[in-house]
Amino acid sequence: MLLKERMLKGKEQLLKYRYILIVVLGIIIILLIILFGIIYKVNANNKQNVALNEEEQNNNDVMLVDMDTKNELKEETKQEQKQEQEQKKEEEKEKEEEASATGIIYLTFDDGPSSDTTPQILDILEQKKIKATFFVLHYSNQNEELIKREASLGETIGLHGYTHAYDQVYQSADTCMENFRKIQEQVYQSTGVKSNIVRFPGGSSNKISKKYCEGVMTDLTTRVVNEGFRYFDWNVDSDDAGKAKNSEQVYNNVVSSLKANRSNVVLMHDFTKNEGTINALPSIIDYGINNGYVFRKITDDTPMVKHVVINN
Ligand SMILES: [Zn+2]
Repeated sequence: MLLKERMLKGKEQLLKYRYILIVVLGIIIILLIILFGIIYKVNANNKQNVALNEEEQNNNDVMLVDMDTKNELKEETKQEQKQEQEQKKEEEKEKEEEASATGIIYLTFDDGPSSDTTPQILDILEQKKIKATFFVLHYSNQNEELIKREASLGETIGLHGYTHAYDQVYQSADTCMENFRKIQEQVYQSTGVKSNIVRFPGGSSNKISKKYCEGVMTDLTTRVVNEGFRYFDWNVDSDDAGKAKNSEQVYNNVVSSLKANRSNVVLMHDFTKNEGTINALPSIIDYGINNGYVFRKITDDTPMVKHVVINN
């Protein structure tokens, strides 16, 4: 009996301990769940805050960048406006000068550049503070540097052709156009200047093209204009590629042909060994200035000076 009672008591106690153990475990599990819940929530909040902060920072950055870009654009616009105003003033000043001048002189140099003549002509123009027009020919690495210098000095670069060989240039209107486009592209690649000012090899009044393609100049004089080019012949010939053998003859040919109240487009050359023109140039410029002429480079606004086409 005693043993049975003890066994029963023991069993009861064991059940009691089990019950306490289960309750304690239950409480621990509930506490752990609550704890994990709190940790999870805190983490989530932190992440959200970080994200919000980042977004805010990004927004601020965007706003700052926007403001910077706006300021830069404002500055650029201001500078552009200033440049435009200065250019307008300069143009107005030039127009006033032209209106009261005896006439306008456009010095043009064909068949260059050449390493001996062109730099000397550029130096003279720079010293005398006047601009001119260079109808360039051929292309080589050496020429490229000279054409770049012409462009950087603000001279006008006109197109004479990739080659001057009449039998190649005037095979057809197409070959002549190709001859202009080829030099146009190379000048553009070197200087960023897309010139559309051309001078036909031999001028538009040349008779030699008839030998290779009859009537080609009639086609070409219309076609160049239709394709966006403007061509310039001359009305003052220095004859430095012809009979003028020294600087005195070059000088006399030019000054005796200048006329008041018109555009005087002077044909000269900056091919190699052209001492006559190099030496005559300062005196020609002085003569022009002293006699009330103004010197200009050919631009897109310059009216074309054209010969009468006779090769038709
Ligand atoms: Zn020429």
